[in-house]
Amino acid sequence: MASVTLKAVRKVYGNGHVAVDHADFTVQDGELLVLVGPSGCGKSTALRLIAGLEEVTRGDILIGERTVTNLPPRDRDIAMVFQSYALYPHMTVEENLGFGLKLRGHSDSDVKQRVTQAADTLELTSLLARRPRELSGGQRQRVALGRALVRRPQVFLLDEPLSNLDAKLRASMRTEIARLHRSVGATMIYVTHDQIEAMTLGHRIVVMNQGVVQQIDAPMKIYAQPANLFVAGFLGNPAMNQFRGRVRDDGRALQGPDGELPLPVRADLRGREIVLGIRPEDLRRIDGAAQDTVSAAQVELVEAIGNEAFIHARLYGWAVIVRCAPEDLPVNGETIYLHAPPERMHFFDAQSGLRL
Ligand code: ADP
Repeated sequence: MASVTLKAVRKVYGNGHVAVDHADFTVQDGELLVLVGPSGCGKSTALRLIAGLEEVTRGDILIGERTVTNLPPRDRDIAMVFQSYALYPHMTVEENLGFGLKLRGHSDSDVKQRVTQAADTLELTSLLARRPRELSGGQRQRVALGRALVRRPQVFLLDEPLSNLDAKLRASMRTEIARLHRSVGATMIYVTHDQIEAMTLGHRIVVMNQGVVQQIDAPMKIYAQPANLFVAGFLGNPAMNQFRGRVRDDGRALQGPDGELPLPVRADLRGREIVLGIRPEDLRRIDGAAQDTVSAAQVELVEAIGNEAFIHARLYGWAVIVRCAPEDLPVNGETIYLHAPPERMHFFDAQSGLRL
């Protein structure tokens, strides 16, 4: 196995579109790193650059100590798994698994041994004689993973491998990929637009937007300390509440469209235009006793979804969502009182969007 390093990598397509700008990070040996971001942010391009399927415009890519920037894909010792698994319909599972190895000139006994081992790891042994049409979607995706596994590459590259599956199957395949990663201990780079997949699978995640890496860290660290407003809004569902306004000169409140939200005093924020971020689960409902850290909000809509509820309300002119237990829910038009612990408040510069 090996690490993967991107050094100031830039990709400009022929039409002038900058798909990846100054990507600069290292995937550790044995790490499962997830590239995540909205559609079009450049995550597939980044993966294809690592694979050698696209040429970099500037910068370098290293696998281990080896610079592979100008090597063709077959010389990079990587294996890729795509969303569309494209199995050969006329071949059995066993033949599908072994085909790539045969093409590369591996001996029959070596192919047999590798296929047997991969089938065992992926619990495909009882399906080896079947053809793709006789498999479920999840089983087909396991065969696609198996095709990569038999190659025993230094690095696995996975591009939205679960997007074709339904929600339930996606959840179970997610667990399988995590298990597979543990059992082979391989370096994996996984591309997805799905924040749940990113949060649950990644040792670390790379959040991208418009070709630019926004933040790289462990999932819960990013969730707890988003580096900017984009990341704050992208991870978390419902998204973090954002209150844009000016901090009063004494620093004790954020002036909103229709009232003031009490703030813990931070000298550096006095008089500044900021965005205050509070996650829906960090807004607590409390009894109406008027303390200076409490705000009154008018309920506009209540959604109970079984295990939890979302209260949509208006807080001094700002729209706000509160996540809570589905008990003692208010009714539309009711006034509720909200409090957020100061340590759960996020502050961002209103212009740059950067965390303050
Ligand atoms: P993602 O995987 O994050 O959805 P991509 O890496 O596929 O995004 O694409 C990033 C951007 O580059 C998109 O705006 C896309 O339209 C553009 N793009 C992708 N491939 C090409 C190409 N071959 N030529 C020109 N633009 C491209």
